[in-house]
Amino acid sequence: MKRILLSLSILLVLSSCSSQKDTEKPEVNSVYYEIFVGSFYDSDEDGMGDLKGVQTKLDYIQNDLQATGIWLMPINPSPTYHKYDVMDYTGIDPQYGTMEDFDDLVAEMNSRDMDLILDFVLNHTSTKHPWFIKAKEAMLNDECDVVIECDFYNFSSTYKGRYHRINDNLFYEAGFWSEMPDLNLDNEVVRENILTSAKFWLDKGVKGFRLDATTHFYDDSLENNIEFLRWFNDEIKAYKPDSYLVGEAWTSESIITEMYSSGIDSFFNFSTSQQDGRVVRALRSGNGNSLSKYVESYQSNIKDANKDSIDAVFLSNHDNNRSAGYLIKPEDKRMAASIYLLMPGNPFIYYGEEVEMKGSGIDENKRLPIIWSHKDKTGQTKGPVDATYKQENQLSVEDALRDKNSLLNHYKSIIKIRNAYPDISRGQYEALDLGHDALYGSRQNKTIVVHNLSDESIEFEMDNKKVVKVSGKFKVKGSSIKIEGKSSIIIEE
Ligand code: CA
Repeated sequence: MKRILLSLSILLVLSSCSSQKDTEKPEVNSVYYEIFVGSFYDSDEDGMGDLKGVQTKLDYIQNDLQATGIWLMPINPSPTYHKYDVMDYTGIDPQYGTMEDFDDLVAEMNSRDMDLILDFVLNHTSTKHPWFIKAKEAMLNDECDVVIECDFYNFSSTYKGRYHRINDNLFYEAGFWSEMPDLNLDNEVVRENILTSAKFWLDKGVKGFRLDATTHFYDDSLENNIEFLRWFNDEIKAYKPDSYLVGEAWTSESIITEMYSSGIDSFFNFSTSQQDGRVVRALRSGNGNSLSKYVESYQSNIKDANKDSIDAVFLSNHDNNRSAGYLIKPEDKRMAASIYLLMPGNPFIYYGEEVEMKGSGIDENKRLPIIWSHKDKTGQTKGPVDATYKQENQLSVEDALRDKNSLLNHYKSIIKIRNAYPDISRGQYEALDLGHDALYGSRQNKTIVVHNLSDESIEFEMDNKKVVKVSGKFKVKGSSIKIEGKSSIIIEE
């Protein structure tokens, strides 16, 4: 009885701790919110989301969601809606606002202790980038002996794979799309320009960058990709030691693991994400134990490659089908969120995931407007013009905030717990076999996470437990803990 009372009193103390001021800075800033600016919040009623709009919604991101950082998809001047083809690496696209708007956003985020990372697209530029315009013209006029930009790109007099035609005797490399010519990253002036641009943004107070398409820098050489990333990381860390770099390497776990040897802090963990990824597969099979064992082995592999590596876990991003389209049952949406938000490393939430946004197929459908309110249209964006998905019955943020059982409020409570237990982000990970396949168990330093992936309650034994904190239903009796189906608990050692 005495022991139960003691546990109860610790529990009370803890729960009063967790109701700490909403804006208090967590020990580890680890939870990023990925935003497609154009579909987020429109501050000047032209239907286009903008930087001022992001600033307007910082309270939502920081307090209602509890995210501690933001990844902005590209904001540089670009001729396309998606802006992954950059025309000026140190400019702001006028559709999104001005440099002053950007400075205001960074200043307010920094005053809130929020981290900002920018999408840095350096594999290719737009064909409308002045470098490419100059290079192409010089190639056509045979003036490359005096025009250095010719060597910024890869031209050829004959057709090769990934190359596009200018005329019968002139082709250029553009692996993704004819309008996105690949940069020649071996050119020293290109490298200098890349560094100058990166430092420009770091000087403005950004935390770092999300590096687009890192496996395509050199399409035929992993070794060269690693060499380039090592060079970039070394330069950036020498300039700003506490900066943060996360790479997009949409490839296998083994290649990602090798790429960690470059020193880049994080790479997105594609194998845990999406419809057929490890988190959703674990939910479908009801096997949490094997998921935890995988996390342990992946953690061990990436730490071997780079002892400071930080896994970057996510459920979906701007290139993937929205998760609410395949996680149908409310308890599956909640469980998937609990799992990835309580994994080691830095979780990345794709805007709208928290309000069950849907959309699949063409990219535009994956980047639709978040609906703020069904009654008040203030700030509502129009979204990509070519989107074909109709947002019928889409939950609004306003309604989700009001419903205490909403997925949004679940995200908030889980992230609050994550922020209160820094071990979850950075502790040494050990898979715990709790004797039931359905139970995901992990120990990170003094914090234990347990998820029950089945629908049934499960009882397990645990010695030396001191206190149990919950984000679902559970019962403690002596040395046994009974956890209800689709529930998650945290145990402090
Ligand atoms: Ca606008």
